[in-house]
Amino acid sequence: MALIDFKCKECGNEFFEIINGENISVACSKCGSTKVERIYKGKYYGKGSSCSGSCSGCSGCH
Ligand SMILES: [Zn+2]
Repeated sequence: MALIDFKCKECGNEFFEIINGENISVACSKCGSTKVERIYKGKYYGKGSSCSGSCSGCSGCH
């Protein structure tokens, strides 16, 4: 589980969602648009800092 920040491409609203697993279907909390992009603010809630880059369930690595 990770707390991930998103920004809406329609209205510019920034919001966050708690994401479980591969479920990343997110709609804007303000206007409801699904045209959102994931943004990175440099903080992660999870195992990102100690990840080797190949773990599953880590939102801090790719
Ligand atoms: Zn929006």
